[in-house]
Amino acid sequence: MLRRLTSYKRIVFFTGAGMSAESGVPTFRGKGGIWKKYDYKSYATQRAFDRAPEKVWDFHNLRRDAVAQCTPNKGHRLIAELESKHPHVMVITQNIDGLHQLAGTRNIIELHGNLWRTRCESCDRIQESREAPLIDLRCECGAYRRPDIVWFGDSLPKHEFNAATREMKRCNLVVSVGTSGLVHPAAELPVLAKKSGATLVEINPETTETSKFFHHRLQGTATEMLTQLIG
Ligand code: NAD
Ligand code: ZN
Repeated sequence: MLRRLTSYKRIVFFTGAGMSAESGVPTFRGKGGIWKKYDYKSYATQRAFDRAPEKVWDFHNLRRDAVAQCTPNKGHRLIAELESKHPHVMVITQNIDGLHQLAGTRNIIELHGNLWRTRCESCDRIQESREAPLIDLRCECGAYRRPDIVWFGDSLPKHEFNAATREMKRCNLVVSVGTSGLVHPAAELPVLAKKSGATLVEINPETTETSKFFHHRLQGTATEMLTQLIG
C-alpha cells in the first residue's frame, strides 16, 4: 500500500512529455507525436545544425510557437503546491518546455535543457528569452546560437545529471509521470532510487517498458492521477 504522501520525507517527481500532454504540448512517441511528422536526424542533431542551422532553427521556432501557446495544467500546479507545503519536493524533468517553473516549481533539475535558452556555438554564452519565433539567431560574437537543449547524440549536462543522481539516491519516494522510459540515460535514474530503498510509483495511461519495475501503478492521465495522489 502506498502511504500518505506526508509520510515520505524526500519526494521526487520524475517527469516526461506525458506530463505536459494535457497542456497541449505534443509527446514524441504517442498519438500525434512530433517525430512521426519530422525526421529527427534532420532537425535535432548537432550534425543537422552544423549543416543547416537556419533549417534546424525553423523547426525549433515551430516548437517555440507551439509551446508558447501552452499553459501549465492542474498536475503541474499540484506538484508546485506540494513543494510549498512539504519539506522536500524535487522535480527532475526530461521536458524542455518550462511549464513546471511557470506553475511555480522552484526545485527543479532539467536533464534535457530548456527550449527558451540558447547557447553560443563559439563562446558558450547562455541567453534566455521567450520570444517565439526567435529572430536573432546570432550571438554578439557572430557565431550561431543553438537551442540549449539535449539533441539526439548529445550528452546530458554533467552538473544536472550528477545532481539528479544524488537526489535519486537520497529520496524516499519517486513518482514518475508521463515518461516512456525509453530515453537513456535519464530512464536509469529511478533504478538508482529503487536500489537505495525508495518506493516507486508510475503514472501513465499506458503500460510502459518499465512498468513492471514500479511498486505502484496509477493508470490514467497526469492530471487525473496527480489529483488522486495529491489533490
Ligand atoms: P515520450 O514521448 O517517449 O513518452 C510519453 C509518455 O507519456 C508515454 O508513455 C505516454 O503513454 C505518456 N502519456 C501520454 N499522455 C499522457 C498523459 N496525459 N498523462 C500521463 N502520461 C501520458 O516522452 P519521454 O519519455 O519524456 O521521452 C521523450 C524525450 O523527448 C524526453 O527527452 C522529453 O523531454 C522530450 N520531449 C519533451 C517535450 C516537452 O518538453 N513537453 C515534449 C516532447 C518530447
Ligand atoms: Zn558567442
